[in-house]
This record gives sequence, C-alpha cells and structure tokens, in this order.
Amino acid sequence: MAEYNKALPQPTPDTQPYWDGLKEHVIRMKRCLDCSKHHHYPRALCPHCGSTNLEWTTVSGKGKLYTYTINHRPPRGWEEDAPYTVAIVEVDEGPRVMTTIVGTDADPDLLKPDSAVEPVFDDVTEDITLLKYKLS
Ligand SMILES: [Zn+2]
Repeated sequence: MAEYNKALPQPTPDTQPYWDGLKEHVIRMKRCLDCSKHHHYPRALCPHCGSTNLEWTTVSGKGKLYTYTINHRPPRGWEEDAPYTVAIVEVDEGPRVMTTIVGTDADPDLLKPDSAVEPVFDDVTEDITLLKYKLS
C-alpha cells in the first residue's frame, strides 16, 4: 500500500461502524425503526422524524449521480489529482453521499446527472477505506 499523505477521516464512536464496514467493503447506513427511512451521515437521531430508535443496515451503495462539481483548484495535498470530480450520489435507499467520481475524466460531457453509479472501495491506509464512486 503506497503511503497516503492526504487528510483522513477521524472516526468517532457514532461513525465507527460505518468505517468498519468500508474496511470490509460493505456500506452501512443507519435506518430508523419508526419511519423506516435510511440516513447518512450516521447520527444519534433520525433526521426525518427525530426518533432515537435506529439500527445499522447494510446497503448496496448503488445509486445515481445527483450532482457534481469539477475541482480545478485543489487544497494542499490533492494537487496531483486535479481536476477531479466531487459529487453527491443518491443511493437507492435514499440518502445522498458526498464522494468523488473515479475512473472517468472530470469532463461534463461524460458526467450526466442521474447516471447510474456504483461504489468503489479505496483502501487508502490499513485503517481507513474511502467510499468513492464510478459510473456503472
Ligand atoms: Zn425516523
């Protein structure tokens, strides 16, 4: 595994099951047992109805490109990646996830809203796997 020098997420007790899932290449999202809706990022309260009656579920992660922007002016550490695509993906279960699109040039002619996308698990360190997406 090549050395990874970019900023890394800092899991918290509330988000650790999500990060543990990504390490296993599965996507876990919380679902409300009262209103049945999923949400992401992980929270202690359902953002739809306020319930604390939540469970972790495994989702496919498949979805569609909701929107995106192409970053030509990256922050320090990401210069070699530019231009790259920062996207919001809407997964089939409903939540929207901020991510990056890999495997396709950052070109508006190639990236169309509502395009089908699928998850890519990027094992950047021994402890952290990042959830990225590619066009299906
Ligand atoms: Zn709810």
